[in-house]
Amino acid sequence: MTKQLTLMIVHAHPDDEVIPTGGLLARCADEGIRTVLVTCTDGSQGFGPDFVNSGEPGHDPSDVAAVRKIELERSCAALGVTHIELLGYRDSGMEGWEANKHPDAFCRADLEDAAQRLATLIEHYRPDVLITYGNNGGSGHPDHVNAHLITLLADDLTQIASKLYFVIRSSEFAERVLIEREKITIPNQKPESGRSIPRPQFDHLVTTRIDTRSTISRKKEALHAHLSQLNGSHWVYLSDDALERVFVEETYIRARDKTGASLPESDIFAGLRP
Ligand SMILES: [Zn+2]
Repeated sequence: MTKQLTLMIVHAHPDDEVIPTGGLLARCADEGIRTVLVTCTDGSQGFGPDFVNSGEPGHDPSDVAAVRKIELERSCAALGVTHIELLGYRDSGMEGWEANKHPDAFCRADLEDAAQRLATLIEHYRPDVLITYGNNGGSGHPDHVNAHLITLLADDLTQIASKLYFVIRSSEFAERVLIEREKITIPNQKPESGRSIPRPQFDHLVTTRIDTRSTISRKKEALHAHLSQLNGSHWVYLSDDALERVFVEETYIRARDKTGASLPESDIFAGLRP
């Protein structure tokens, strides 16, 4: 019997799994590939009830974390994720927030210790493919940067995965989102959610394009599972048709490889299939 393929994706917060990697997770579910989602933090600095921000009256970080754990489980059920692993660090919030100073914040964690914890999971699941963010975390968020760092460190420690990828937002994706967003009116839009989506300059680094058209309804269900965080976001207001146009593919950078599979590729397991 051939060994079952395993994919492990390391994300910072509950909800990060959906937009960059939800389609790939759902495609793995279709193929019976084992998927392990590692979520590093509890998401406790996200919106509270009625979308209150962290630090405002009515925002209880432990209540927010409890809601977000349930949302994460629903999202993973929609995407067919087979294993969820929570590292349980406290969400650091955005750079400069008061929450950065909390002793349990992921941005204050001992990185070698965090990497060792991830390495233990890698030794347990023995993933063929590891995925995380690129070197600024993709967004510069301190928890995303740390997710990137501990994944590289844990991969160095274990040397088990045959391929390691970074998620990347292509300019085509950003353009598709902008086009659809300009067609809709977003009620009660907060100024920060109206910011323009950055146009990435890194398209030339994309090595791997995954066709995710067969997964759109599941990706949408997973997106909507994180409803507590979608205040004023275009993601709640985009129609099914719009999402059909936006979620056509996911793009990745192959950063480490032991397979020698040729590039560009359209299969994250190229070189690993029996
Ligand atoms: Zn995040």
